[in-house]
Amino acid sequence: MSNDCLLLNGNGKPLSYFPLSTIDWKTSIKLVLTKNVIIIKNHDDWVVRSPSVTVDVPSIIMLRRFHKFQNYVKFSRSNVYLRDMYKCQYCSDIFERNRLTLDHVVPKSKGGETSWENIVTCCNSCNTFKGSKDLKPINKPIKPSFAHLLNGHKLKASDFPDKSWSEYIFST
Ligand SMILES: [Zn+2]
Repeated sequence: MSNDCLLLNGNGKPLSYFPLSTIDWKTSIKLVLTKNVIIIKNHDDWVVRSPSVTVDVPSIIMLRRFHKFQNYVKFSRSNVYLRDMYKCQYCSDIFERNRLTLDHVVPKSKGGETSWENIVTCCNSCNTFKGSKDLKPINKPIKPSFAHLLNGHKLKASDFPDKSWSEYIFST
């Protein structure tokens, strides 16, 4: 995991400080494409090219919604999506919220609980495909902590890939 892009909560502050909420550039671009986040700033001199398009790599992005975290992370649809980074846990693709649903790994009909450990993010087509088949999600679902959601490193401005991160991280 890497720290290409700073991820801010809906209130404009980092989602977490220790560890700092950062994500790799591929995830950041996918999240932007799904409109789950707003671009605050792109990297000045970093673009990714495919044969047909050129895309600026985001440096700072902000979640459209404010996620409130306390000592525990509340179980909710939004927070499950966030834990899984909007990634379907069966096909590994990233989707917009309205194309996602929650899936019981062990189906309710077989006694599966509605809990962090048995619920994963699932796209509509995988959900239809899965039905009652015994498919395993790519990541075993766990109750998330800050450390789970985010990738850690010490807060040193000299480590930031973009100097402008400092104004979001060190301002109060
Ligand atoms: Zn899927």
